[in-house]
Amino acid sequence: MNLTIDHEQLLDSLTIGIIVFNNEFKIEYANQTCINWLGLTSDLETSNLITDPFWTIVDKHGDLLATEEFPAVVVARTQKPLCNYEIGVLNHTTNVYSWFLCNAYIEKSTKTQLDNYVLTFTNISDQKEIIPFKDIVAKANDAVIISQAVDTKGAGPEIVYVNEAFSKLTGYSSTEVIGKTPSILSGEKTSPITTKKIMDHLTQFLPVREEVINYKKDGKPYWVDLNIVPLKNSKGIVTHYASIERDITEIKDKTLNLEKLAKTDTLTEALNRRGLNSDGCKAIESAYESGRSFIVAMMDIDHFKTINDTFGHDVGDVVLKHLTDLLKENLRARDIVARIGGEEFVIILEGDPPPILIKKVEFLRQIIEDSAFSVSSDIEFKLTCSFGIAQSDFTTRTINELLKQADIALYKSKSNGRNQVTVYSPS
Ligand code: GH3
Ligand code: MG
Ligand code: MG
Repeated sequence: MNLTIDHEQLLDSLTIGIIVFNNEFKIEYANQTCINWLGLTSDLETSNLITDPFWTIVDKHGDLLATEEFPAVVVARTQKPLCNYEIGVLNHTTNVYSWFLCNAYIEKSTKTQLDNYVLTFTNISDQKEIIPFKDIVAKANDAVIISQAVDTKGAGPEIVYVNEAFSKLTGYSSTEVIGKTPSILSGEKTSPITTKKIMDHLTQFLPVREEVINYKKDGKPYWVDLNIVPLKNSKGIVTHYASIERDITEIKDKTLNLEKLAKTDTLTEALNRRGLNSDGCKAIESAYESGRSFIVAMMDIDHFKTINDTFGHDVGDVVLKHLTDLLKENLRARDIVARIGGEEFVIILEGDPPPILIKKVEFLRQIIEDSAFSVSSDIEFKLTCSFGIAQSDFTTRTINELLKQADIALYKSKSNGRNQVTVYSPS
C-alpha cells in the first residue's frame, strides 16, 4: 500500500511539541503544537536559545535552570540523548509556566551536515500540582513519615518516605529508614498501652493522635505529639499512613518536672500528700486489678518533739531527711514512701503475701532502732518509730479508708509503748 502524507501537516497536528535547534542554538523548526505551547512568535525565528532572554526554563521543583542545563545544551555537551527530562517553560504570551516531559537527541542536518538538536515534549501541566505539596512536606518543620498501610512482608508496614525534619530530629537519614518499620523508633520507655491504642486505630484505618516517647539514632529519648492519618488512593482505599510528629520534649520535660515538684515534699524528697493521693491510689488500683496483695503502713517518729526541743528544729529537719533516705535505701524503687505530716509517713508495699509485707515493715522498724543518726560531728543519737498497718482485704478500696485503719493501728502501737508494729483488725 502506498501512502502519501504531508509530513509538515502531520507534525503540526501531533499532540507532541517538536522543536529543532541548529548547532548555534537557533530555532530551525517548531511544529504548531510547540509554537502554541511555548507562545513562540515570528521574531523568535532568529532568536538564540542561550543568549535570548525569552527563554525562562525551570526544573521540576520550579528552580530556575542555568542555560547549560537546558535540554538542547545538555544533549550538545554530553552527545547523549535525554529522556523524560521534566521542565517548566514560561509562556510569555500567557505569563504562566507550562510543564513538559522532554526528550532530546542529536541529528545531522541534511543541508549543513552539522548537528541539530531535536526536542520533543509531552505536556504534563494538567498532572502537575498547582500547589507543590511534596515540596511543602519536604520542607515542613514537623517530622513526617509515610508508611505503607499494610504489612506486606510480615515485618510491619514499611516506611516509604521521611522528610528533612525527620532526619534532623532523629539522626536517621532517609536511606537508613526507608524499608524499615516505624518500630525502630520505639524503645524501653515507649508505653505499650499507647502503642497498642495506636495499632488498634490503624488496623481499623482510623486516624489517631497520641503523645509518645521515641528514640533517636543515638539512643536519646524524645517526646512527640504524634498525629497519624490514613491516606486513601483515588478509589478510596487506604494505601499509606502519614505520621506527623512534633517534638514536644522540652515542654513535656517541663510539665513532668512541675508535676513531680507538685507531688514532692521539698524537705525529704519523699512524696507529699498530693503525691500519695495520686501515686498511692494508682499503686493500689493496679494491685487490685492484678490481684496482688498490698499493705498501707503509717509511721510516726516516737518523741520527735524531744529531738526538736533538745537539738533544735534544724536538727529535727536533718533527721527527717536522714530517716527518709534510710527508708528508701531499704525499699524498692516502686514502693511508695510519702511524708504526709510533720513526722508522719505512709509506706505502701505490694507484690508479696501480707505476712511477708508485714515482716518488711518490722524489718524497717528494726533498722531504724539500730541506726545511729548523726547530724554533725558531735551530735549522734538514736530514735525509734511506731507503725500501724492496714492490709488489703479486697473490699476496702479507697486509700482514705485504709489510712484510717492504719492510723487506728498506729495509735495502738503508741499506747502500747511505741517502737512497735500493729496490724489493724476490726476487733
Ligand atoms: P509521739 O511519740 O507521741 O509521736 O511524740 P511526738 O513528740 O513525736 O509527737 P507530737 O505530735 O507531739 O510532736 C510532733 C512534733 O513534730 C511537733 C513538731 O515540733 C515536730 N515537727 C512537725 N513538723 C516538723 C518539721 O517539719 N520539722 C521539724 N524539725 N519538726 C517538725
Ligand atoms: Mg511522733
Ligand atoms: Mg505525729
